Amino acid sequence: MSGIGKGVATASIGRILKSKGFKVTAIKIDPYINVDAGTMNPVEHGEVFVTEDGVETDQDLGNYERFLDENIYKDNYMTTGRVYQTVINKERNLEYNGKCVEVVPDIPNEVIAIIERAGKKVKADFVLIEIGGTVGEYQNLLFLEAARMQKISHPKDVLFILVSYMPVPAMIGEMKTKPTQYAVRTLNSAGIQPDMILARSNLPLDEPRKQKLSNFCNVAAQDIISAPDVASIYQVPINFEKDDMGNRILKKFGLRPRKSDLTDWEHFVGIIENSPKVVNIGIVGKYFESGKFTLTDSYISVIEAVKHAAFSQNRSPKITWISAEDFEHNPASLKNLKKFDGIIVPGGFGNRGIEGKIKAIEYCRKNNLPLFGLCLGMQLATIEFARNVCGLKDATSAEFKVASKNMVIDVMEEQKVLLQGKKYGGTMRLGSYDCELTPNTISLKAYGLKNITERHRHRYELNNAYREILQKNGMVFAGINQEKDLVEIIEIPQTGFSAKADKSRVSSHPFFVATQFHPEFKSRPLNPHPLFKAFIQAAIKK
Ligand code: GLN
Repeated sequence: MSGIGKGVATASIGRILKSKGFKVTAIKIDPYINVDAGTMNPVEHGEVFVTEDGVETDQDLGNYERFLDENIYKDNYMTTGRVYQTVINKERNLEYNGKCVEVVPDIPNEVIAIIERAGKKVKADFVLIEIGGTVGEYQNLLFLEAARMQKISHPKDVLFILVSYMPVPAMIGEMKTKPTQYAVRTLNSAGIQPDMILARSNLPLDEPRKQKLSNFCNVAAQDIISAPDVASIYQVPINFEKDDMGNRILKKFGLRPRKSDLTDWEHFVGIIENSPKVVNIGIVGKYFESGKFTLTDSYISVIEAVKHAAFSQNRSPKITWISAEDFEHNPASLKNLKKFDGIIVPGGFGNRGIEGKIKAIEYCRKNNLPLFGLCLGMQLATIEFARNVCGLKDATSAEFKVASKNMVIDVMEEQKVLLQGKKYGGTMRLGSYDCELTPNTISLKAYGLKNITERHRHRYELNNAYREILQKNGMVFAGINQEKDLVEIIEIPQTGFSAKADKSRVSSHPFFVATQFHPEFKSRPLNPHPLFKAFIQAAIKK
C-alpha cells in the first residue's frame, strides 16, 4: 500500500546496484488519471518534483535522483492519464494503421515502450520500475498486465519484488503476515509471482515469520528481506545489504556476485548518526496541515536539501514547521522566530498565508536572521523589500489578484495567453534554465562558478520595471537569465563582504538570498547544494 516506502526501497536497490558498478535508472508508475502531478494539491499528493527536462512528477523521482545521484528524465514517470493520452494521440495520427486500438494489449504495450525508451536513453543495465498504489486495486491492473507481458517475452530479464507491509497491532504486539499472504495471492491472480519480498514493518522480521511467509508465499526464505523502520531513510541501502540483497538480485538474473562499494554512503550515514550539534531551521509554509496530522511531504526536497547541507557541516538539522497564517492572526508570535538559526520561505501558490510569509521575511531582514527564499519565497521577499524599503506600500504580485499600481511581481508574457485559455496542465516555466551570476555576490561565492543551470516551476517573475528602484535601495540581483532578461536571484549584500564593492548599497545582512528557481531539486546527499550549504553555514555562524 502507499506510504510504506516503495520509493525509498526502489531508490535504495538502485544505489546498491550502482555501487556494484552497474548503470541503473528508475521509473515511477502512478495509476491515477492526472497526466502529471502538476495539477494536484500538494497536501493531497505531496511535493511535485521537477525533472531537468521539465516534467512535474511524483516526489519519488526526487528519491531516485538523490539515491542514484543521477538525473531522471520524462520517460521515467508515467501515469494512466499520460499513457492513455499518448495512445489516443497516436490513434488520432493514424499511427495504428487502421487497426482497432484496444485497452489490452495496446495500453500495456505503450507502457512497455516507455520503459524501454527510458532504459535506452541512459544505456541502463537495470531499469527499476516502481508500480504505485496497492496490489488488487483496479487502477494499477494494466500496469501489472504490462509487467506480466514483459516477463513472458523476457523471462530471464524480469524480476518482481513485492514491498509489503507487516503490521504489528499494538493490542497483540505480534507481527502479522496475513496481509502479505493475501497480497501475493492477489498478485498471483494477475499472473505474477514475486521473486522477492521486502517486509516493511516497524520491527525487523524474525525467523518464524520469515518461514511462514516463505511457505505461504512461495518465496525462498533468503529472498525475504527484512525492512524495519530506520531513523534515516539513508540507512536503508545499508540495511538491505545486511541481507545481501544486491547479490541475491544478481543471482536471480544469472549474474555473478559482485562486491558493493558503499563507502561514501556509509560515511554520510555515519555523520547522520554522529552529529550531536544541532542547527535550528524554521520553514514558514502552508502545505502541511491535514486534519489532525502534520504532513511534511509537500516540502520533501527542501527538507532533504537542508539535511544534506547540515550534515556536510557535521550538524543535525532540527526542522520546525511554522504556519504562515499564524503570523496573520497573531503578529506577536513573530518574535518566536528569534529561536531559529535560519528561516526558509519555500515555494507555493495562491493567496493563502501570503501576508504571514511577508511578515516573517520582514522579521528576518530587520533582525539579521538568515533567510533563504525559494521561488514564491523570492517573489515575497521582493514584495516585502518594495513595500518596506522602497516605500511602495501596495506592492504585490499579479498572482494574488488584488488591485494595485505596483505589480513588482508580474505574470510572464508567454503565460498570459495560457492562463486566459485555462491551459494550466504542464504549462508553467518548467525545468532547467541558465543563470549567470553577478560578481561580488553571496551566490557567486557559494557556487564558485559564473554560469549555472537550475530547475524552475513558476508563472510569475520579478517585474523588470522595478529593477532600478529595488537596486537603488540596496537589493542586489545576483543571478540573471540572460535569454529572457529575468531576475533569478535576489540578495541583500552580506555584512563586510560585498558592501565595499558598491558604495550605493545601503543595507547589509548575514544571509538574505532568494531564488526564482528551486535549488532543492538538485541537492544530493553526497553533493549538497551550494546555496543550501551557504545558508546553513550562515545559520551556524548566527
Ligand atoms: N506561484 C508562484 C508562480 O507561479 C511561485 C511558484 C512556486 O513557488 N513554485 O510564479
